[in-house]
Amino acid sequence: MFATLSDRLADTFRNLRGKGRLSEADIDATAREIRIALLEADVALPVVKEFVGAVKERARGEEVSGALNPAQQIIKIVDEELVAILGGETRRLRYAKSGPTVILLAGLQGAGKTTLAAKLALWLKEQGKTPMLVACDLQRPNAVQQLQVNGERVGVPVFAPAPGNGVGNPVEVAKESIEEAKRRLHDVVIVDTAGRLGVDAELMQQAADIRDAVQPDEVLFVVDAMIGQDAVQTAQAFLDGVGFDGVVLTKLDGDARGGAALSIASVTGRPVMFASNGEKMTDFDLFHPDRMASRILD
Ligand code: GDP
Repeated sequence: MFATLSDRLADTFRNLRGKGRLSEADIDATAREIRIALLEADVALPVVKEFVGAVKERARGEEVSGALNPAQQIIKIVDEELVAILGGETRRLRYAKSGPTVILLAGLQGAGKTTLAAKLALWLKEQGKTPMLVACDLQRPNAVQQLQVNGERVGVPVFAPAPGNGVGNPVEVAKESIEEAKRRLHDVVIVDTAGRLGVDAELMQQAADIRDAVQPDEVLFVVDAMIGQDAVQTAQAFLDGVGFDGVVLTKLDGDARGGAALSIASVTGRPVMFASNGEKMTDFDLFHPDRMASRILD
C-alpha cells in the first residue's frame, strides 16, 4: 500500500537534490509534481489542493535553515503535512470513567468489521483489559457464527442472541449486552453492527438506533483501504448518518493505491485510530500518523 505515492514523491525529491536554493519556479514545479503524485495515489481532490497549497506556502516562507538543504526542507514540510492530513498525533482510545467502555463498530459489509472486532478484542486483552464481543450483525447469514469463531480464536467471549429465537432485534441484543458486561465485569464491550454492500438509509438507522441504545464511548468507522475513491463518500455518509470518533483502516496489506483512505481523516475531521494489515489476528495496531508519513517518505 502507498508504494506508488512513495515512489512518485521520491522522484520529486530526487529532482531537487544538489540545488542550492529553491527559486519560485522550483517550488512551483515541485508542487505540481506532488499534486500529480497525490492524485495518482487516489487522494481526494480537495485534500490534494489543500495539501499542495500548504506545501507551497510553507516552502516560500520557510527560513533557510543552515542544517537542511532545499530538498530536505521540502521533505520535512511534506512529512509534516502528511502527518496533519492523517489526523496529527496518535489518537488513543478513550476509556469510560466508570462502567464498561463501549466501542461501536460501523461500516460497509466486507469492510472487515467482524475480523477487526476480534483483532481489537485481542489487542485490548493484551493491554490487560477483559473485553466482550457483541454480535449485532444479525443480517448477514453466518455473521454471528463468524464472530463466535473469531472470538474463540482470540479467547474473548461473544454475546449473541440465543439460537432458535428467530433473527432477533439488534438494538435489544446491544442493550442486553451492556447489562451482561456489567454483571460479568467486562471492562470493554465491542459491538459489531450489520453492514450492507452500499450505503443505505435503513442500515444507517439501525446503527444509529444501536448507538442511542448503548451510548458508546467511541464509534469507530471501519473502512477497507482498497475501496478507492468511494472511501471518502462512504465515510461522509457514515459521519452524517451515525457519526464516528475515529477511523479504522483495514486491508492495508493490499496493493491498492490507498490515497482515498488517506483522505478520510482530512475530509471528515476524524483521525485514523487503528490499522489492520493482514489476515492474522495480530495484524493490527494503533495507527501512528507520524510513522505512516515516514514510511511513505522512506
Ligand atoms: P465484515 O463484513 O465487515 O464483517 O468483514 P469481514 O470481517 O467478514 O472481512 C471481509 C473479508 O476481508 C474476510 O475475508 C477477511 O478475512 C478479510 N480481511 C479483513 N481484514 C483484513 C486485512 O486487514 N487484510 C486482509 N488481507 N484481509 C482482511
